[in-house]
Amino acid sequence: MKAPSFAYVKPKSLDEAFALIEQPGAKVLAGGQSLIPSLNMRLSAPELLVDITGLASLSSITLEQGVVRIGALVTHTQLGESKEVTSHVPLLAAAVPHVAHPAIRNRGTIGGSIALADPAAEYPACLVALGASIVVQGKEGERIVAAEEFFKGLFEVDLRPGELVVAVEVRAQLKDERCAFLELARRHGDYAIIGLAAYRSKGNRFVFFNAGATPVFARNASREKDLPAAKAALKKDLDPPADLYNSSAAKLHLAGVLLERAWTQLTTSH
Ligand SMILES: Cc1cc2nc3c(=O)[nH]c(=O)nc-3n(C[C@H](O)[C@H](O)[C@H](O)COP(=O)(O)OP(=O)(O)OC[C@H]3O[C@@H](n4cnc5c(N)ncnc54)[C@H](O)[C@@H]3O)c2cc1C
Repeated sequence: MKAPSFAYVKPKSLDEAFALIEQPGAKVLAGGQSLIPSLNMRLSAPELLVDITGLASLSSITLEQGVVRIGALVTHTQLGESKEVTSHVPLLAAAVPHVAHPAIRNRGTIGGSIALADPAAEYPACLVALGASIVVQGKEGERIVAAEEFFKGLFEVDLRPGELVVAVEVRAQLKDERCAFLELARRHGDYAIIGLAAYRSKGNRFVFFNAGATPVFARNASREKDLPAAKAALKKDLDPPADLYNSSAAKLHLAGVLLERAWTQLTTSH
């Protein structure tokens, strides 16, 4: 199938973009790796595509005062190759190879991934585990939203009409902190059956993906001090929806397997 017809515009400044995206029927286009297939399948029929890929200010990665700021237009490939990210946010860097395939990683962006908020996507869970902030901006100015608050429901995020995700901000990992990223998929590059982003700072933060409508912060498991207790606590934290191939019970079992692997990684000194 082909996409329904639409108008297309590529703004040169953020102000121009804000004026365009508040028009009725307008839709933001970033890497197009989720939006274009959905147009081609006629799941979406916007009247106007606002292509934000010309906004150079959204393409940089910086490290300032211990905070890594990643622009919304940074592609999956750029994220995985960035020194700032591999050295200071290794959890995100570890997630990159699990996102789709190289062709999609070359165009798809971090901003698109988190604005879409697919429950099986890797970055939302990583950002919740990291306690990251999402920087959103509209005509009225900028808002900083904690990642834990940003993902509100199934494909639903805290973005108001006329706002863009412009960046994410993550505190650089400290020397005594640890992270682990684990995902089970039927084939490499497929969306996860279930996955886990784990971060150990003063305490543990275990955040599962494809385990609910949004990233699921396993609070009870994260509070426990030993692995058997943490695994047992998972039952209170997770009620993963079944999919075509896996029952809810099977996914809960797999969550326990991932938790055990992550626990080993977090507690093994490097
Ligand atoms: C075969 C296939 C496999 C895939 N596998 C995975 C996977 O394993 N894991 C995974 O995470 N993803 C996967 N993806 C999706 C991919 O990661 C996309 O790159 C990503 O979800 C969307 O990014 P994009 O830049 O392409 O956004 P687009 O497709 O351009 O846009 C997606 C949505 O976000 C909105 N949007 C985009 N940017 C912004 C912004 N800055 N502010 C506000 N709204 C915005 C758009 O309006 C649209 O609604 C897969 C895609 C395909 C086609």
